[in-house]
Amino acid sequence: MRILITGAAGFLGSHLCERMLNEGHEVIGMDNFITGNPDNLAHLAGNQNFTFVRHDVANFIFVPGGKVDAVMHFASPASPNPLSPYGYTNLPIQTMKAGALGTHNTLGVAKANNARFLLASTSEIYGDPLEHPQKETYWGHVDPIGVRSVYDEAKRFAEALTMAYHRFHGVNTRIVRIFNTYGPGMRLDDGRVVPNLLQQALRGEPLTVYGDGSQTRSFCYVDDLVEGIYRLLLSDEHMPVNIGNPAEISILEFANVINRLTKNTAGIDRKADLRLGDDPQRRRPDITRAKSILNWEPTISLEEGISHSIPYFRSKMGLE
Ligand code: NAD
Ligand code: UDP
Repeated sequence: MRILITGAAGFLGSHLCERMLNEGHEVIGMDNFITGNPDNLAHLAGNQNFTFVRHDVANFIFVPGGKVDAVMHFASPASPNPLSPYGYTNLPIQTMKAGALGTHNTLGVAKANNARFLLASTSEIYGDPLEHPQKETYWGHVDPIGVRSVYDEAKRFAEALTMAYHRFHGVNTRIVRIFNTYGPGMRLDDGRVVPNLLQQALRGEPLTVYGDGSQTRSFCYVDDLVEGIYRLLLSDEHMPVNIGNPAEISILEFANVINRLTKNTAGIDRKADLRLGDDPQRRRPDITRAKSILNWEPTISLEEGISHSIPYFRSKMGLE
């Protein structure tokens, strides 16, 4: 296949480019570097099957070389942390445009090419969930004007537009609802919990836990996620599918795991006042659909995944 991947210079986009090239596909990577990093793609520079286009997906998309067989729309800021300049609350209009106009333009490319389309949606469309764990049938609990709404509502609009193109224009669409994913290739300074805590631990500092740390997340290692996404792309499933690791852990316990794996003895620093507005209290995917439709489930434990990620963070921090 000839595949357009937007958000290619980001964490997930760069892993997808690599996986698709390894599967023998041709990849056109597109990114405007608003939160991504060209370093993530540097090793693909000499690859004849890879083309990079610097472009903002909120504007009309021209695909070099003509026809594509698949479009994977991953371009969007993704960190909620207002303390980072890369957090989406500091890029609110760009975030809404990437989810709304970017989804419209990428769906347009898919329609014009009769290509399959895959939207990167998110567990955030469930908001601060009242149903636990979250099944794809849950409609969510999102404050439309909350601080996170620029992201959540853009993704909800993106899902609605994707289904509209599927139902009205017959576009061959897929929607993946991604739960917290981590691994090599993450930005060190976008404020997400994995890079924040791993860096503090590797510097021998106390780990900053926001609020009382009782809020939960379910962390998926990037290779597991990419496998699930690849299977979804090859499937015929048009309804949303959760891809994530159902192993739920509180942020306080997560900080303890990081300290143990990095042998950090500096402990934990709870910052009650830093609890982010509308920070979801619980999050855990129900992956029954992914198991039955894609025969997929994660295989990499948190301990393994964090251990695989430490060398990347050490190297980016200049520790080796
Ligand atoms: P990231 O910030 O590392 O990557 C996003 C990429 O999109 C960046 O390279 C950025 O420069 C690019 N981008 C943003 N707006 C753009 C625009 N208008 N035009 C072109 N490029 C643009 O984030 P990520 O974690 O890799 O997330 C990728 C996608 O997956 C996002 O759509 C995000 O919403 C979704 N997602 C990620 C997670 C996760 O845990 N990592 C969870 C749920 C959903
Ligand atoms: N968090 C934290 N310390 C940090 C960064 C984040 O305790 O340095 C918490 C944050 O409040 C949230 C959880 O960790 O409850 C996950 O945050 P992240 O930014 O990774 O993404 P989210 O899952 O909220 O989208």
